[in-house]
Amino acid sequence: MAELQLDHITKTFDDGGDEIVAVDDVSIDIEDGEFLVLVGPSGCGKSTTLRTIAGLETVTDGEIRLGGEVINDKRPQDRNTAMVFQSYALYPHMTVRENMSFGLEESTDMPDDEVEKRVTEAAEMMGIADLLDRKPGELSGGQQQRVALGRAIVRDPQAFLMDEPLANLDAKLRAQMRTELQRLQEDLGVTTIYVTHDQTEAMTMGDRIAILDDGELQQVGTPLECYHEPANLFVAGFIGEPSMNTFEARVDGDRLVADHFAFELTDRHREAIGDADRVVFGIRPEDVEVGTTADDHTYDVTVDVVEPKGDENYVHMRFEGAGEDETFTATIDGLRQATAGDDVTVRFPPEAVHVFDAKTGDALLNRSLEDAEGVELVL
Ligand code: ATP
Repeated sequence: MAELQLDHITKTFDDGGDEIVAVDDVSIDIEDGEFLVLVGPSGCGKSTTLRTIAGLETVTDGEIRLGGEVINDKRPQDRNTAMVFQSYALYPHMTVRENMSFGLEESTDMPDDEVEKRVTEAAEMMGIADLLDRKPGELSGGQQQRVALGRAIVRDPQAFLMDEPLANLDAKLRAQMRTELQRLQEDLGVTTIYVTHDQTEAMTMGDRIAILDDGELQQVGTPLECYHEPANLFVAGFIGEPSMNTFEARVDGDRLVADHFAFELTDRHREAIGDADRVVFGIRPEDVEVGTTADDHTYDVTVDVVEPKGDENYVHMRFEGAGEDETFTATIDGLRQATAGDDVTVRFPPEAVHVFDAKTGDALLNRSLEDAEGVELVL
């Protein structure tokens, strides 16, 4: 077990004379035993970052340290990391037992009985002890993924590197494996980097999440920090389902004026906005209050479409005069009714509002995490 440090990592590829910057000056310190999720849209550089740590790619610039030791020039098999791939990457002609023991037999001179002991322990941990004599072709996708994880555990590495390991499983199994993997990682206490493009996985699994876009690190923080205090518009839009509602607006004295509504600013808002003149106003769907009594922050809107989800409804709404692609969303309790065409009042509570600089995308004002966490737990 060890701390893993990415210190100004850059990775470029040469694409027929054009330079592709896959990872752009990324620095992250991952604590000993921490579960860090690397998340971002397709092509943002997640896999390349992971592959540089595993030694499957060389870095163009920067330093990777594991347990304080620079590992840039070490061969993959000498790095003391174990990678788990989406494709499982099992040898089809070998049994489960052979797949799990192969790496140890090849890269160490560990006695056979010790290898056997480790394989049995890992197989029991992963619930696949009765499958040890089967070949991968005789296993379900979920079972193959357990073998791939078991094979990583057997190596007793200083760090697990997981690249979308659950992506090929169906939704129900994925949810089950998410919890199982988290428990396993906690029990083993091995520093883990987990790559996914799925923000739900990122929110639910990570001690912290690191969000990448176009090779650049956008934010590193706990899931709650990234959700309530996004560093910029990209993070605000990427984390959260349905996405945060955003409206371009200009600052006009004590008001923000958007295309179809104006919002009265409080002193806290004004102070945070400073002298920015073009901004983006943001509010999360669950913060939009539907059907409240009128005050300074309420508006009349029309329901456009209702998406029932069972436990809650996504209500897509429009201001008068807004185009079809200018809807915004509120989430309401599943037992509350709303119907397309209804005229309703919505409120944007001042304490829940986010404001971003329109030019840079940087957050000027966020919902305060203290407020959000101030909600008392009911046990
Ligand atoms: P996905 O979620 O789709 O796997 P990703 O976030 O893991 O995406 P990467 O696979 O790391 O993204 O790719 C980052 C960028 O680097 C992309 O633009 C990709 O096309 C480019 N890239 C990756 N590997 C190579 C390579 N071997 N040669 C050239 N370009 C590459």
